[in-house]
Amino acid sequence: MGRLDGKVALISGGARGQGAVEGRMFSREGAAVVLGDVLDDEGKKVALEITANGGKATYVHLNVTSEADWRAAVATAVQAYGKLTVLVNNAGILFRKPIEETSEADWDRIMAVNVKGVFLGTKAALPAMRQAGGGSIINISSVAGLVGSPQNTAAYTATKGAVRLFTKSTAIQHAKENIRCNSVHPGPIATDMIKDSLENKTQWEQRLRRLPMGRVGTPEEVAYGVIYLASDESSYMTGSELVIDGGTTAE
Ligand code: NAD
Repeated sequence: MGRLDGKVALISGGARGQGAVEGRMFSREGAAVVLGDVLDDEGKKVALEITANGGKATYVHLNVTSEADWRAAVATAVQAYGKLTVLVNNAGILFRKPIEETSEADWDRIMAVNVKGVFLGTKAALPAMRQAGGGSIINISSVAGLVGSPQNTAAYTATKGAVRLFTKSTAIQHAKENIRCNSVHPGPIATDMIKDSLENKTQWEQRLRRLPMGRVGTPEEVAYGVIYLASDESSYMTGSELVIDGGTTAE
C-alpha cells in the first residue's frame, strides 16, 4: 500500500530538480501526478519515465505566471484522473544581485514566478479540491523565507517570506473545507538552481559557515517531507512550516 494511494497531485516546476524527484516519489507511493513546467521536453521525459515504470503521469505546459495555464493544468488533472487533491507549488527562480544592482524588471520577474505563481496555483486548485472533498496544498518556500541572507538574495528572500504567510492565510481560510496548506523550507539542495554557488568555492565556504550539517541536501530529503504533507499522515497539520535545512536556522 502506498502512502499516497488515491491522491491526484499537480506539481509545478516538475520537469527537473526537486519537482521531478517529487513526481517520481509520489508515483511510487501510489499518486497519479500531473507535472507542469515551462521546460516541455524535460517535463515530457519525466512523465514518460514514470508511466514506463507503471505509474500514472501527465505533463502539461504550465507557466505559473499565467492564470489560463493554471486553469488548464487543473482541468487536465480532473479530466485525466477524476479529481485534484494535492498541489505542490514548487516552481521557482533565483538570482543573486546586490539590492542596488537589482532592476525593477528583476524584482517584478521573481515576484511573478515565486509569489504570483503560488497565488494563481492556489486560486485554480481550490475549487477542484472543494469538489473532491478536501486536499493538501504544499508551498515550497525556503530557509530564505525564515531568515535573511548575506548572499545577495534580498529579492528571493522577499518572495519566500511572502509564500510563508500566504500559506498561513490559505490554511486558516480553508481549514473548515478540509483543505490544508503548509510551507516547506529547504536549506541548500543540490539542483540546477544553486549549481553555480556550489561550484563557487568562496561562496560555498561562506554558506557552509551557516550550515551545521556541513553538506548540501538532496531533493529526496525534501521530497520525503512533501510526501508526508501530501498524505493523510499529516491530517492535523495546516498553516505549518516544515524546515528541512541541515540545521541552518537552528542557530
Ligand atoms: P530547479 O531550478 O532545478 O527547478 C525549478 C523548476 O521550476 C524548473 O524546472 C523550472 O523550469 C521551473 N520554473 C521556473 N520558472 C517557471 C515558470 N514561470 N513556470 C513554471 N515552471 C517554472 O530548482 P529546485 O531546487 O528544484 O527548486 C524547486 C523549488 O525549491 C523552488 O521554489 C526553489 O526556490 C526552492 N528551493 C530551492 C533550494 C535549493 O537550494 N535548490 C532551497 C530552498 C528552496
